[in-house]
Amino acid sequence: MQCYLIRAIQGSGFQSIDNRGKTVASLPGKEVAGGDVNRHAFIKREAIFRFYAELNDFLPKRYRQCDHRVSFIGQPAVKDLIEAQQVPHTEVDLILLNGQPVSFSHPLRGGERVAVYPVFERFDIQSMNRLRPAPLRYPRFIADVHLGRLARYLRILGLDVLYQNDYEDETIIAISQQIHRIILTRDLGILKNGRVTHGYWLRNTDPVKQLKEVVQALQLESNFKPFARCCVCNGQLQSVSAEQIWHRIPPDTRRYYDTFYLCDACQQVFWKGSHYARILAQLKEEGIKLQLDSA
Ligand SMILES: [Zn+2]
Repeated sequence: MQCYLIRAIQGSGFQSIDNRGKTVASLPGKEVAGGDVNRHAFIKREAIFRFYAELNDFLPKRYRQCDHRVSFIGQPAVKDLIEAQQVPHTEVDLILLNGQPVSFSHPLRGGERVAVYPVFERFDIQSMNRLRPAPLRYPRFIADVHLGRLARYLRILGLDVLYQNDYEDETIIAISQQIHRIILTRDLGILKNGRVTHGYWLRNTDPVKQLKEVVQALQLESNFKPFARCCVCNGQLQSVSAEQIWHRIPPDTRRYYDTFYLCDACQQVFWKGSHYARILAQLKEEGIKLQLDSA
């Protein structure tokens, strides 16, 4: 069986070392000096962990889909050992300790079997105590600085996505907290922040694949409302007649389109042109079901 050693560090710190002696994760803290510690508090103990479904994405290959031992010292909270293995708490919906659901703060004392399930798990865990706050009823997002194209695609589908290419991590976390937005990110560090309650870590790097991933993972199909959002600034679009914006439409476009949309924030004009058709074709190729023709 594979194993980790989680080495206790004074305060809330841990360092996790795999069975080849390689450090795989660490949390901040001050290392304990050897001479002046209560040695009983530092007896090495073990628990057996298993992560389910997409939580395995965060683990090194050899620890995926299998039981592995985690050694630790002291009585760390189960959340600390999960995050020491690189799995952010925002991805975890249920922890079973010897078959019983426990909270993130539950201390480990050694000898436990810990099963960790993801937020968007398809297994039937309805009867268990889920750890996550209830899903946000009207999903709204804030995307990190690496996800500009994903933000545009989501807006094209009508979803509310804040994005600026100069957002600091702290700004993203603060906005997410204040106005209840789900953080979309490729940065695990953001999701490990204890103040973050709703977040999703994108596995893919290609923007179209990211779109498919997030739509499926968060089950967003029912929230599609094309031509409701400006893909440039996230403002709201209003349907306008060609006469109202006649002077702003290229002559060729006047000939082929009769439905136009005006952004109430940046005043850009949109229509269902070739760019829109191209994006729809890409999404269709990825198997994303869209019923946008009536929009
Ligand atoms: Zn706009």
